[in-house]
Formats: sequence, C-alpha cells, structure tokens
Amino acid sequence: MEKTKKLANGLEMPRFGLGVWRVDPEDAINSVKWAIQAGYRLIDTAAIYKNEAEVGEGIRQSGVSREELFITTKLWNADQGYETAHQAFDESLKKLGLDYVDLYLIHWPVPGKFNDSWKAMEEVYESGRAKAIGVSNFHQHHIEELMTTAKIKPMVDQVEIHPTLTQEPLRKYLASENIAVEAWSPLGQGKILSNPTLMKIAETHQKSVAQVIIRWHLQSDIIVIPKSVHENRIKENFDVFDFELSPDDMKEIDSLNINERLGGDPDNFNF
Ligand code: NAD
Repeated sequence: MEKTKKLANGLEMPRFGLGVWRVDPEDAINSVKWAIQAGYRLIDTAAIYKNEAEVGEGIRQSGVSREELFITTKLWNADQGYETAHQAFDESLKKLGLDYVDLYLIHWPVPGKFNDSWKAMEEVYESGRAKAIGVSNFHQHHIEELMTTAKIKPMVDQVEIHPTLTQEPLRKYLASENIAVEAWSPLGQGKILSNPTLMKIAETHQKSVAQVIIRWHLQSDIIVIPKSVHENRIKENFDVFDFELSPDDMKEIDSLNINERLGGDPDNFNF
C-alpha cells in the first residue's frame, strides 16, 4: 500500500497520521515527538485545540526535518470571514513556530461565512504558506455552495467516518470531484473497540481492533488520523502495514454502518 495519497494539486499527503484533539498541552509535545519518532509523518491539529505551540515544539524535538513532515491546522468558526481568516492563519503559523503548513482546513461550514474565509485561504495558498487547502465537516451541498465563488477546489474534506458512520454517498461524491477524504474520530473515539464483529476480525488477523479499523480506513482510500497520548498505542496504531483485510472482512465492516454521529451534524451545529 502506498504511504501517501496524491492530492489534486500533486502534493503527496501521508495516508496515516496523529490527531491531537483533546490532547492537553502537557501531553502534546511528547505525543507528537513519539509519533514522529515511530514513523508518523502527518500531524493534525487546529487552532481550537489550543496545542499548536506544543505541536510545534514536539516537531522540533522529534529530530525529523520539517520537509519530511505534513502538518495540518484549521481555521476556527469564530475566525471565519476574509480579514479574520488571514489573521487567524498568521496566528496559527506563529504558534506552531513554522513558516508554512502543509494543509489548512476550514474547520466547520459556518453559514454565510465560509465563502469569504475561502477567499483568504486561496490567497494563503497562492502565497505558498499553505501547500494545500481544504475543508472539514462539509457535506456535498456545502462544497457546491463554496464552488459558486471559489477559484480553487478544496483538495481535502475531513469528516467524521468510522465503521458505524461510513458516509458512503459523501465519499463517492468526493472521489468523483478528486477531493481526498480524511476521517476524523476514525476509531469512533474508542467507543467501538468492543464491537464483536471487529473483535472477531481482529482475532483472525492476530491484530488489535484499533489496527483493524485503521486498516479498513486505509483500504477504503481514507486518510486516517487516530489519536492517542500513550506511546505504546501510538506505535500500535502505526503497525498496520504488514497485514491485509480480505474483501469479505471489508464488506463485513462496511455493514456495521448505522449512520451514528458522535460529533456535530454539519447542518445543525451551534459552536
Ligand atoms: P479517535 O477515533 O481517534 O479515538 C481516539 C481514542 O481511541 C483515544 O482517546 C483512545 O481512547 C482510543 N484509542 C486510540 N488508540 C487506541 C488503541 N490502540 N487501543 C485502544 N484504544 C485506543 O478520536 P478523535 O480524537 O476524536 O479523532 C482523531 C482526530 O481527528 C482528532 O484527534 C483530531 O485531530 C481530528 N478531529 C477532527 C474533527 C473536526 O471537526 N475536523 C473532529 C474530531 C476529531
């Protein structure tokens, strides 16, 4: 399996990385450092996670050069709008201690605002300070609305996906538009790790349930960013390149879908 996915602009994005939502600043430096030292190349943070400074510090302590890494951050809802998006981006870069990010995402589709935010993001992209730009939590209709004013199509849509929320119609649409799909809460926030079907498949492959779910994402062409702050689990989650789920395993996992959202619905959120 290829370790990277080519985005629409030719940039190679790692298919696997570390998410750091709800990772306290005290834990973030070590988690990022351990992950990079274990072989992770993609780190996913956001302004609202309040740990960009520690993510930057973890990167510096890892000993791996900046060019080998792929760093994502996101524009928070309160900062949406043309001017404010520019300011928020500058602030994120400063906190990270970097002179560019690899991917900058609109965190949520704030109604009436995201088209203006996107204009600022296109300028950030054209300036070279974000190597790719994209969106998060966008349904198909949000992307269609964005495209009424956009010059550049989003390169990534990061949305909630796990075996109990497989989002097949959205994934099909994104594939048809050449927009890469990235899963947030890929392990269902740890709530689906005792699912009997997943446990049975894990047993067959002598792998953990977390590893089976991560492998299901990768084999479904979904970029995956599981979160952990424990060094052993950080290593375990990366150890997924030495086995393969069969077509039957894949079908069985697909069939666990019950459209179960653990986070907000992009059509109905108030934060
Ligand atoms: P996740 O699905 O990655 O689950 C993480 C939890 O699973 C951990 O807290 C731990 O309890 C458990 N876990 C992880 N590895 C394990 C292992 N090997 N064995 C047993 N348990 C294990 O949850 P998440 O943090 O919600 O999502 C991952 C990342 O996605 C976030 O950190 C963040 O970067 C991103 N995210 C983005 C959005 C968005 O709106 N764009 C929203 C939520 C999350």
